[in-house]
Amino acid sequence: MRHPLFSKTKYFILDMDGTFYLGGRMLPGADVFVRALGNFGLDYRFFSNNSSHAALSCREKLAGMGFPVEEDRVLLSTHVAADFLQILHPGAGVFALGNENMHAELHAAGIRLVNDRPDILLLGFDTTLSYEKITRAANWIAQGVPYFATHPDVNCPADGGFLPDTGSMIALFSASAGRTPVILGKPMRSTVDFLCRKLRCAPEALAFVGDRLETDIAIGVTHGIPAVLVLTGVATRESHTVSSIKADLVVEDLAALGQYLS
Ligand SMILES: [Mg+2]
Repeated sequence: MRHPLFSKTKYFILDMDGTFYLGGRMLPGADVFVRALGNFGLDYRFFSNNSSHAALSCREKLAGMGFPVEEDRVLLSTHVAADFLQILHPGAGVFALGNENMHAELHAAGIRLVNDRPDILLLGFDTTLSYEKITRAANWIAQGVPYFATHPDVNCPADGGFLPDTGSMIALFSASAGRTPVILGKPMRSTVDFLCRKLRCAPEALAFVGDRLETDIAIGVTHGIPAVLVLTGVATRESHTVSSIKADLVVEDLAALGQYLS
């Protein structure tokens, strides 16, 4: 019998790294779980905060693991930013601190990118960040240019360590220019609104699944949406126990979530 937690669920919003795959390897049974969702009248999307990725390369990675998915199934915080800016600031010239993947996603989503005198500054996970870019951005921020960030993650797990992520740059600009941005991505409301617009559903139709408490779980907890923690990535049973952010359900992995749906 389906767990009451999921009585209104139509879409599972799945994190990717640490949830569906770990590094370059698909987690055991993850594909079986996702493929079985249709049997229960359920659907899914992948959603990642990582705005340094291109949706296409995520899909290629999934396909390389034997799990090809349609184009609209991979969503990024970059898409939330594009959607949000188009609604709030249609036609604005956006200076995007991001790599070429982020620029391409924004451009494809209809955002007008500019190199100077921006109407909007958008900070993403810029793996090409230079001192020159930091300096220009800090000055615009200090001057009061409307300022947004794709997501709040401070670090991104990587082989043998981590990469300083967007949240760390938010701290840098806060120290230098004295302002913090409007943050998008998980765990923010803008991501719930984006998903509901995209999927034409109410928030109750969503359920978030992921490995990180501050983003994947917090977005559910904060907005009254079921949140499932998988123990295949960042969070452990111990870190969940001591955290103030409590998932509605904790499972070993995606494969173990299947038993709550049938
Ligand atoms: Mg993750």
